[in-house]
Amino acid sequence: MLMKEYIDEAEKALLHTYNRYQVVLEKGEGVYLYDMEGKKYLDFVSGIAVFALGYGNREYNDALKAQIDKIIHTSNYYYNIPAIEAAKKLKKVSGMDRVFFTNSGAEAVEGAIKAARKYAYLKDGKTDHEIIAMNHSFHGRTFGALSVTGNPHYREAFEPMIGNIRFADLNDFDSVMANVNEKTCAILLETVQGEGGLYPAEEAFLQKIRKLCDERDILLILDEIQCGMGRTGYFYAWQKFGIKPDIMTTAKALGCGVPVGAFLMTEKVGQNSLKAGDHGTTYGGNPLACAAICKVLDLYEKEHILEHVRETGAYLEEKLDALAAEFDIIETRRGAGLMQGLVLKEPVGGIIGKAMEKGLILINAGSNIIRFVPALIIAREHIDEMTDILRECLSER
Ligand SMILES: *Cc1c(COP(=O)(O)O)cnc(C)c1O
Repeated sequence: MLMKEYIDEAEKALLHTYNRYQVVLEKGEGVYLYDMEGKKYLDFVSGIAVFALGYGNREYNDALKAQIDKIIHTSNYYYNIPAIEAAKKLKKVSGMDRVFFTNSGAEAVEGAIKAARKYAYLKDGKTDHEIIAMNHSFHGRTFGALSVTGNPHYREAFEPMIGNIRFADLNDFDSVMANVNEKTCAILLETVQGEGGLYPAEEAFLQKIRKLCDERDILLILDEIQCGMGRTGYFYAWQKFGIKPDIMTTAKALGCGVPVGAFLMTEKVGQNSLKAGDHGTTYGGNPLACAAICKVLDLYEKEHILEHVRETGAYLEEKLDALAAEFDIIETRRGAGLMQGLVLKEPVGGIIGKAMEKGLILINAGSNIIRFVPALIIAREHIDEMTDILRECLSER
């Protein structure tokens, strides 16, 4: 079948919940993707911050194949070696104490919310606790995660939400204070907001939030699903700020393409929240997913991913700042490391479409922002190639 025919078939069979680009991607190699007609694309999306190690990493692929031949799945009623190893490695890179594996980011957020509510419940036996989340946040599409997502447009048709959620503004401590009361059990935020517009949390804000949480025994939950796993040059973005969350979520690049996520907590929360029977999952943390995590974490160390991101992230910033200086239509650049956005004064759909035609894959964040979340192995030459194509697209618009 031709590409066009596949696309027609897709639109007859798949629920239309995405306006997809008119391309069928077939294989990947490093930071390049190929569609089924053989056209080559430089990929600055990496499956939305997922394929951190690039496509076709030999060691990663071999580790998965070897695990498939051993065992793909067992129930969480039994122990399995990859999950034990993955949890140990994840504790080490995060400094957290307890891990629960999930199948996705949204499920990690669900688990974090449940853990926070249970922690508060065990203190006072009440069931009216509140969570403060941030405007412009994104935490996923399931009900709990949607309830804390600060975008009314995503929530509207699906009301009622889980309830007892309040929204404050990121980096506005007064707006958080205005929402805190004796019922507050958790404050939840992304250390760098992704979908909501690439807004990094500021150090002073995070430190004030941490202090507030300590004083009132409120749990700080950091969603590191997009900004974590090395994307900002730190294993987890909060590690830059001398603070530590009580609960954190991670997913996206965690399995580098194998669907897996996790929520992690400190020993204090672990001892005083979810107990046997309180939470579970059939697939979460199965041997295949955890073999992926183990290999990903090993390769991060072996390939010095964090050092590489600090260097290439700074270079990407420099190149994007140069574009911002060159084109009036660009309002500003913001982000951290290899998680960047160019904020335009108009919708970016046309420019992203044009880039696609020229063999460059980009994605938006909201209507006016071009988002850059490439594989973390991206090299300077790829950044040069990307900016050359993007410059052409901006000039031709
Ligand atoms: C992508 C994302 C999620 C949701 O993850 P899924 O795996 O799509 O459920 C949650 N939080 C943040 C910050 C994300 O970027």
